[in-house]
Amino acid sequence: MLRPYRFERELDRSVAQWLAWLPRWEPGTLRRRSDVCTVCPRYADELGLTELPHGPLHALVTSIESLLIEHFLRNSAARFPELERDGEWKVWLDRGIVRITSSDGREVDELLDDSEADSPLDALLRGGVSPQKAAEARIELVRMYYMLFNSAVNRLASQRSLVLRAVDAYIEPKVRRMAEELVTEVCGA
Ligand SMILES: [Zn+2]
Repeated sequence: MLRPYRFERELDRSVAQWLAWLPRWEPGTLRRRSDVCTVCPRYADELGLTELPHGPLHALVTSIESLLIEHFLRNSAARFPELERDGEWKVWLDRGIVRITSSDGREVDELLDDSEADSPLDALLRGGVSPQKAAEARIELVRMYYMLFNSAVNRLASQRSLVLRAVDAYIEPKVRRMAEELVTEVCGA
């Protein structure tokens, strides 16, 4: 039920769109804001793109991340349709972490502790998906997330030379020019 080809095709399209957009990128500021970004560092390390200015990196990474989330949620709903069917549980991604929360917003682990005293009869009477089942599902969903994350990173890595060539052509000269302008400004030359 995982459709890797579709995912890879969509990843390729995202990279192609980013490459097409790159020539229009202008450095707004050279300050590195990737330190406070919750998305980029996870990818930049894996892809060896930590030297890239945050603006273009962020554009690339967020488009990849939104594809990943979309595929993850679709696969999750296909694999565990009963989880979200009655609105009892919500499966979502929080900065790369798979979370399953109940309709009142409590974490599955929290409810797991509460329900340990449940007898099988209690569970049967309550109906729906038990916290135990939801916790088991999460183990598989975490595995699924990492599979998708790895395939995204591998797919991007296979296009790394293309990305680096574009960075050399469109980003480096602008960054260099801006740095020179800054020096001129500061030194009053
Ligand atoms: Zn970012």
